[in-house]
Amino acid sequence: MKKIIAVLPGDGIGPEVMSASLEVLETINERYNHQFIFQHAAIGGAAFDIYGKHCPHETLEICQQSDAILFGCVGGPVDAQDDPKWQGCEANSILALRKAFNFGVNIRPIKMFNALQENSPLKNNRIGQGADIEIFRELSGDIYFGEHRRFEDENGVKHASDTAEYDENTIAHIVEKAFIGAQKRNKVLTSVDKANVLDTSRLWREVVKAQEKNFPDVKVNHMYVDNCAMQLVLNPAQFDVIVTANLFGDILSDLASVLPGSIGLIPSASLNKQGFGLYEPAGGSAFDIQGKNVANPIAQILSASLMLSYSFGLHQEAKAIQDAIEAVLKKGVKTADLCTVDETPVTTTQITQAIVQEIKAICIA
Ligand code: NAD
Repeated sequence: MKKIIAVLPGDGIGPEVMSASLEVLETINERYNHQFIFQHAAIGGAAFDIYGKHCPHETLEICQQSDAILFGCVGGPVDAQDDPKWQGCEANSILALRKAFNFGVNIRPIKMFNALQENSPLKNNRIGQGADIEIFRELSGDIYFGEHRRFEDENGVKHASDTAEYDENTIAHIVEKAFIGAQKRNKVLTSVDKANVLDTSRLWREVVKAQEKNFPDVKVNHMYVDNCAMQLVLNPAQFDVIVTANLFGDILSDLASVLPGSIGLIPSASLNKQGFGLYEPAGGSAFDIQGKNVANPIAQILSASLMLSYSFGLHQEAKAIQDAIEAVLKKGVKTADLCTVDETPVTTTQITQAIVQEIKAICIA
């Protein structure tokens, strides 16, 4: 299969972990006879240095001509946000791409690796059978995109309001994707809302109920968001696929992303109605570890594997990558973020090489 991939490494550890994922994709190319062509483009602070903009049209053009976007991370050091290079960097880069491509569905898989049970912040007796969850978060509506207003009343008291709005078509689109996602997994869909209080949630629930009959093989649960936050910590193994609105998804997906034990393990996908996708790790540019060859590349490599599966339908290749990562971790090959005090960490380069070798062993060409 021949595919053009827009490669946007970005800032901080972005180029290091991106280079690891490209090595893995080159191995897949070689072993499975594919032809992935990488078109590099600048984004974030790296683009600002060249073009004076965080998301220049040159980058958008490369993305438009590609079959998928592989994104690293953007943003400056936490204490340098006043520097014009970093001001608004994350929002300008990510929102520009979301707007240009109408990404309305975000998928974040949360998987606890067997070899990393000790890394989870949950006690062993809470982890149960681990966690393997896919969170579908609506990306284009809700309180972030409604009217934002500040005003003073007649007594000079300051007020602020943010309006949440959804239409049934926007909800139906993500709910359908989540049902299809559940059909490919354990066929349990939890729809999360606040239907006891919010009209947007009551509409959300109506849409889910209307679609339920089209997917008779999927069991649907409805859960209030506050309970879902508790349940994710008390018993994450109960979840298979979660679907929820933009604001709830933002918070729940970050909560869930700590369950496996490191932000360096969590990939994500953003898709539009045409199925075009952007794939990126959940973490940021981590300037505290930039250039030290210690960053965990697994989230970026898993983002590439999500791309193979969701954008190109290459499920076997995606599984080979996931199996290779599982095998490497089982052998105790871990970067610093995954090590307990008595374990010796390997570098970014070493864990990447170990994953590449496992893929070669899984697929003997
Ligand atoms: P961060 O995610 O960059 O780092 C938080 C902590 O996690 C740090 O200790 C870091 O070392 C660690 N970490 C992150 N990824 C890691 C990896 N792959 N391996 C090992 N450790 C890892 O968050 P932050 O420090 O709050 O933000 C730094 C910059 O990143 C900011 O400019 C922020 O705006 C930006 N940011 C960007 C994105 C994105 O590009 N999608 C997401 C979050 C934050």
